[in-house]
Amino acid sequence: MNVYDSARMADVLRPLGYGPANGAEDADMVILNTCHIRDRATEKVFSELGKLRVVKDARARQGRETVLAVAGCVAQAEGQEILARAPYVDLVLGPQTYHRLPEMVARAARAGGSVIETDFPVEQKFDFLPDEAAPQLPGGVTAFLTVQEGCDKFCSFCVVPYTRGAEASRAVAAVLAEARRMVAGGVREISLLGQNVNAYHGEGPDGGSWGLDRLLYALAEIPGLARLRYTTSHPRDMSDALIAAHRDLPQLMPFLHLPVQSGSDRMLDAMNRGHDAEDYRRLVGRLRDARPDLAFSSDFIVGHPGETDADFAATLSLVRETGFAQAYSFTWSARPGTPAASAPNRVAEAVAHARLLELQALIRAQQDRFNADSVGLTMPVLFTGHGRKPGQLSGRSPYLQAVHAAGPDTLIGTIRPVTITEMLTNSLTATLSPDANPMLERACA
Ligand code: SAM
Ligand code: SF4
Repeated sequence: MNVYDSARMADVLRPLGYGPANGAEDADMVILNTCHIRDRATEKVFSELGKLRVVKDARARQGRETVLAVAGCVAQAEGQEILARAPYVDLVLGPQTYHRLPEMVARAARAGGSVIETDFPVEQKFDFLPDEAAPQLPGGVTAFLTVQEGCDKFCSFCVVPYTRGAEASRAVAAVLAEARRMVAGGVREISLLGQNVNAYHGEGPDGGSWGLDRLLYALAEIPGLARLRYTTSHPRDMSDALIAAHRDLPQLMPFLHLPVQSGSDRMLDAMNRGHDAEDYRRLVGRLRDARPDLAFSSDFIVGHPGETDADFAATLSLVRETGFAQAYSFTWSARPGTPAASAPNRVAEAVAHARLLELQALIRAQQDRFNADSVGLTMPVLFTGHGRKPGQLSGRSPYLQAVHAAGPDTLIGTIRPVTITEMLTNSLTATLSPDANPMLERACA
């Protein structure tokens, strides 16, 4: 989402004469767009700011000014602390105030000193951002599109409801218009974004509230939009209609990120996730019934306060039974203001770390098996750019695997059947297949 937000900030700044710079040394303005989800991300902000101060001072000695801004969720949560610890920062703005950036730049220039905007404004920033939203990279064929933001679920460990604010969805017409502009600019694959994207409930053209399912059916009608994905979804918001969309829409890629966090009912309860492990198993089963070639990815937290060896064993069981194509896993990180941060029975760091290594080894083995099973299959690949080797193209499979194949530049932006020939550590090698009508051969994982 920060990638998307950064592109939108560039859109608002363009009319002021700002464009991309080669690096901080050449930039009249540097915006650090930040993440607050785990403490390591926050620490990075202060270490990056230290480096940017050196650049700003060096430019000042040459008589060149640098506006230094901190945006995103660290700015939202720790705005005052940033200004106290790094008074050389000019602008601090939370994720809901990007549309006010031009006004903030003007205020900082007029008044001198720092400007901070971390209130949650009543207006939705999307209504004030310019229409020109472009894909993140000029000529890019894949793009992110935020449709929903914020969260009302208040999981015990999570800062999102405090930093991104309450759940809000963009109107269907605005999303469709932005998607059409992206497709007109050459985009073939759009990933819809939201902290809880399947809680989407935007105002439809008929005045009613549309769920993510209806939005997907409408997007699938845009000519030239070949692939759709959405992330991140919550198991509780996986409606019957959304499951049916996976059955009905060939544009909807057969790869779903469905975070579960833990396989232990006790921990799911402590985390306030609102479902148990059996609910998750059942949901995965129903999704696989609807779309047998669907593969799953997930998020896991180990070492949440109160997690015992038995709880962790339940997580391993769930992973073994489900079989993931890929997953992200983290040790719990205490986030200020969240209920878990003040919960008793913290897990020793060494124990949490050992659990993480064990879980990651299991996930890695599943990911390797999934990729190894791809060798020999023919699948459609969207070519997105050049590979590292001359004459090589890179692209992505329906399962978001990186695929490399020799081929002409004219294939960039097109979807072609390839046959996977080899699995490398983080990518697949393939040859262009002569098949005119590729069929996905992967059976239910
Ligand atoms: N809304 C999604 C959901 O409910 O599954 C998750 C979005 S969250 C921005 C992304 C992931 O970061 C979570 O799924 C969780 O695994 C991880 N995460 C969030 N807070 C964390 C914390 N305090 N410590 C460790 N990992 C955390
Ligand atoms: Fe955070 Fe996701 Fe829980 Fe919302 S549902 S509080 S974004 S983990």
